[in-house]
Amino acid sequence: MSYDQAGAVKKRYWRYREAGLCGKCGKNAPVQGHSLCAKCAEKGRIRMLRLYAERDRMHLCRSCGIPLRETETRKRCFKCRLRSSGQWKEWSEKWKG
Ligand SMILES: [Zn+2]
Ligand SMILES: [Zn+2]
Repeated sequence: MSYDQAGAVKKRYWRYREAGLCGKCGKNAPVQGHSLCAKCAEKGRIRMLRLYAERDRMHLCRSCGIPLRETETRKRCFKCRLRSSGQWKEWSEKWKG
């Protein structure tokens, strides 16, 4: 996806959201507290699960897709685990020195 395309998707997303519609399809009302309708959320969920399965199979980090160390038994790389635990900022500042 080019930069322009990504920008257009974002613009469309906000136009739909402002109209009170699903940010993806712009047809259905979003699920309460979410930005997507149930249909689009389910599609996105399935796509993520497929991606995860593919990355697990190839022994890649589920989040960022970089190859995991052979000894790594978890599904995410060290950095992504830190990020999801909210410690990333602390660590990245340490590494910067
Ligand atoms: Zn939708
Ligand atoms: Zn990662």
